[in-house]
Amino acid sequence: MKIPFIDLQAQYQAYKLEINEAIQNVLNYSQYIMGPEVKKLEDGLAAYTGSKHAIACSSGTDALLIVLMAMDIQPGDEVITTPFTFIATTEVVSLLGAIPVFVDVEPDTLNIDASKIEEKITAKTKAIIPVSLYGQVADMDEINAIASKHNLIVIEDGAQSFGATYKGKKSCNLSDFGCTSFFPSKPLGCYGDGGALFTNDDALAEKSRMILAHGSRVRYQHELVGINGRIDAIQAAILNVKLKYFANEVADRESIGQQYIDMLECSDLTTPFVKTDRNSVFAQFTVRSSDRKSMIEQLNASGIPTAIHYPQPLHLQKCYESLGYKVGDFPIAEKAAKEVFSLPMSPFLTKEQQQQVVESILS
Ligand SMILES: *Cc1c(COP(=O)(O)O)cnc(C)c1O
Repeated sequence: MKIPFIDLQAQYQAYKLEINEAIQNVLNYSQYIMGPEVKKLEDGLAAYTGSKHAIACSSGTDALLIVLMAMDIQPGDEVITTPFTFIATTEVVSLLGAIPVFVDVEPDTLNIDASKIEEKITAKTKAIIPVSLYGQVADMDEINAIASKHNLIVIEDGAQSFGATYKGKKSCNLSDFGCTSFFPSKPLGCYGDGGALFTNDDALAEKSRMILAHGSRVRYQHELVGINGRIDAIQAAILNVKLKYFANEVADRESIGQQYIDMLECSDLTTPFVKTDRNSVFAQFTVRSSDRKSMIEQLNASGIPTAIHYPQPLHLQKCYESLGYKVGDFPIAEKAAKEVFSLPMSPFLTKEQQQQVVESILS
């Protein structure tokens, strides 16, 4: 039996009647953009995270872009982040003409190493974007402290960590801004593109709302240059169903992740390291092996899909050649890129499937 990498089909089957009804409901009233489903989603997201404002938008990438625009990030400004993330984190920085400045990651969590941030701060630094990689939040207290000392803003890229907890608080409500993604394979996914941004600041929330609607509050009156960053009603309706079951899914993700860690203890793999004051929602269950290639071949041969998050750190990507980084600049991220790979993971992964994955690894 082939195991899906992320079992979106099983999830749909579990909520099928409600999801079909929610989609049908939008079709019946035919308001496809914004509308009551989006308002309901935003209320639900704000309640879930405890954030004063939750603003739904078109994708996680756009959430980051809108936040940077709301903060007036200008060409030449510097934004500190990790090189070991998906390109979206820095793409938006570059699109605004600002410069991503990388800081190496911690060897265990693979999140940005907060102790190396301060040495990268210059007069041009405006923001720090910690990424909550694989579903675990970075050292936000330390990062927020550095930011407030140097008058910088902190934007959590929580695209992989929606639902995660850090010292009793929810991801996306841990700094000036949080951004997340509802891409189908993320912990809270819709059936297309979607995302949200979070803040407790009223003025910045209002500005962000304007930016996502072409810079306007009143139709055809454009106070700012904005974008089309809206989410559509069908995606919001799907998310409203899924949000009801999300806390259960997070609990299942945690126990399945812990189960993997226990079962793989006697293997040669390095399993994810989660700090004691936080959890991981295991957006990816990512392990490390010094012999990744043969491990992956072995798994794939027995019908088990794998993925690599991520095979090349951002400072070595062709699109960033002009930044002038070279091999060896961020050795921990570079080593991780050579060793990591992800195993099938979803709240719907069955015990039998998990057993099959582990047996293939141990054989
Ligand atoms: C998925 C992802 C994004 C982008 O989200 P989209 O909704 O696909 O635009 C940004 N950052 C990280 C770390 C991601 O994993």
